[in-house]
Amino acid sequence: MTTSPLPLGGEGGPQPALSRGGAGRVRGAPLLLADLAPPSSFTPRRSNLTRLDNKVAIVTGAASGIGAGIAERFQEAGAAVVLFDINSEGVLSMERKLRQTGQALAITGDVSREEDAKGAVEQAVRTFGGLDIVVNNAGIELAGTVVQMTSSDWDRQINVNLKSVFLFSKYAIPHLRGRRGAILNISSVHAFASYEGTAAYDASKAGILGLTRAMALDHGREGIRVNAICPGYIDTPMLVSPGSTQSDAAAAMQQIVSVHRLGRIGTPRDVADAALFLVSDSASFISGSVLVVDGAMTVAGH
Ligand code: NAP
Repeated sequence: MTTSPLPLGGEGGPQPALSRGGAGRVRGAPLLLADLAPPSSFTPRRSNLTRLDNKVAIVTGAASGIGAGIAERFQEAGAAVVLFDINSEGVLSMERKLRQTGQALAITGDVSREEDAKGAVEQAVRTFGGLDIVVNNAGIELAGTVVQMTSSDWDRQINVNLKSVFLFSKYAIPHLRGRRGAILNISSVHAFASYEGTAAYDASKAGILGLTRAMALDHGREGIRVNAICPGYIDTPMLVSPGSTQSDAAAAMQQIVSVHRLGRIGTPRDVADAALFLVSDSASFISGSVLVVDGAMTVAGH
C-alpha cells in the first residue's frame, strides 16, 4: 500500500498542494492517473456536498409515503421540487405544505402515460429553468401468481412500475446533460428476494435494476449518474392491505417487524436520507449502484 506524500484535506482541511496536470509535482512523488487526465469538468467542492441548492428535482408518487418523504427532504436540502402524482388532491396538499418553506410545483398525471411524463418534464423545465434530478418512485403492488393474474393486471403492474422509469428518464435525460444530472429509481428488496403471490411486482422491481445499470452505462459519459434504492418494509399506506381489520393489521405488523434485524420497520425518512445522499455531490463517483435500505432484513440466509 502506498501512502500519499502530501497531507490530504478532509472537509475544510488543507487541500493537496499538487494539482492535476503534473505542474509543480513534488520530485519523487508518485505519478497518479489524475495527474495525466485532462481536467475534469467537475471537481467536487469539499463543503455542503449533500445540499441541493439551485437544483430542480422531479419526484414521482410524491403525494404519499416514500415519495412525499423524499420531496420534503430534497426541499429541506435546498431544491425546487416538482411533485408528480396521480392523486391530484394529495399532490396539491403536498404542494401547499412545501410552498410554506420553499419552491414546489404539483403536477397531476399518470406515470405510465407517455404524454404525462413528457409534459411533466417540459413543465418542470419551463417553470424552474432546468432539471437536475429525477426520482422514479411512483409504484403499485398488484397481488397474484402468474396463474391468478390477468394479462391486463400484468400490463398495469409493469407499465406503472417499470415503463414509467423508461418514460421519465427518456424525456429527462436531454435536460440532465451538462448539469451533472442524477436519476434515482426506487426498486425494492423484491428485486432479488421473492415472496409468494407477487410475481409481476417482483418482475417490475428486478427490471428497474437492469434499467438502472443500462442507463448508468449509456449516459455516464454525459456526466449523468443513475442509481437505485431497494427499500425493505417502509411504513406507508402501501403496506396496509385494503379491507384488513385492525387486529389483522397489528398481527401482520408484528410479523413484519420481526424480520427486520434492527427491530423496527423503515420510515419514509430512512429512504429519503439515502436518496438525498445518492443524488447529491456526496455520491459524485457512485453510479449504476443499488443501495439496500432494509434494516438487515434480506441478509438473513433463511
Ligand atoms: P404509496 O404510499 O402508495 O405512494 C405511492 C404514490 O404513487 C401514491 O400517491 C399513488 O397514488 C401514486 N401513484 C400510484 N400509481 C401512480 C401512477 N400511475 N402515476 C402517478 N402516481 C401514481 O407507496 P410507497 O410505499 O410510498 O411506495 C413508493 C415506492 O416505493 C413504490 O415504487 C414502491 O413499490 C416502493 N417500495 C415501497 C415499500 C414499502 O414497504 N412501502 C418497500 C419497497 C419499495 P394513489 O395513492 O392514488 O395510488
